[in-house]
Amino acid sequence: MQTIAERLQCARKGIEQATADAHRPPNSVQLLAVSKTKPVSDIMEAYEAGQRMFGENYVQEGVEKIQQLAHLGDIEWHMIGPLQSNKTKVVAEHFDWVHSVDREKIARRLNEQRPHYAAPLNVCIQVNIDNEDSKSGVTLPNVDALVHFIGTQPKLVLRGFMAIPKANPDPEEQHNTLTKLKELFDHYHTSLSNFDTLSVGMSSDMTQAIAHGSTMVRVGTAIFGERDYGTSA
Ligand SMILES: *Cc1c(COP(=O)(O)O)cnc(C)c1O
Repeated sequence: MQTIAERLQCARKGIEQATADAHRPPNSVQLLAVSKTKPVSDIMEAYEAGQRMFGENYVQEGVEKIQQLAHLGDIEWHMIGPLQSNKTKVVAEHFDWVHSVDREKIARRLNEQRPHYAAPLNVCIQVNIDNEDSKSGVTLPNVDALVHFIGTQPKLVLRGFMAIPKANPDPEEQHNTLTKLKELFDHYHTSLSNFDTLSVGMSSDMTQAIAHGSTMVRVGTAIFGERDYGTSA
């Protein structure tokens, strides 16, 4: 059995290699450690191994962990799961990032509910890039309106896009999807300030995502091991 520190090191190596293979600058891809369903003791192990960015999917579970680890002071917490409007307030109060903004109502509430003492909330628009019924996220024709709406919200900073491409596609389909996403990202990256994040790639497709311009991979299983429950991506 490898330790969390060892698996984290392995994930970092994998990112470094994929980044070099794609002829991209070193350190152009960040690693978000997805700790959903895992205990605080696992997060501490990763923290002690130098990890500072953690992703959670479930609001209540995430907030409990944030409160338990508040004394550390330098963890950046990312909400990556689907968000219902009755949960936006605690998210706006506790998280640093939200990757799963997919409609105006959620954006408006996060903006209104972000505490005045807190820095603006970093948000990504979740794009339903494969147009799958089962997935949350905004469909391509509706991306532009949401980009512009978020731009009008003073307590939000639009950082980029998040996507969860289809699991197990054939390589050509995967290439097409990731290319489409990268083109969409580039379109806004060149015109909007702070729009610097393409959150795509998980344990199983991290390498391909990095080859297609991902700037942040969200890795759970490869760091913390299999989850017993709640794989709701
Ligand atoms: C669970 C989850 C991940 C991590 O998935 P792994 O396959 O465990 O690496 C990444 N992104 C989202 C949105 C998730 O829900």
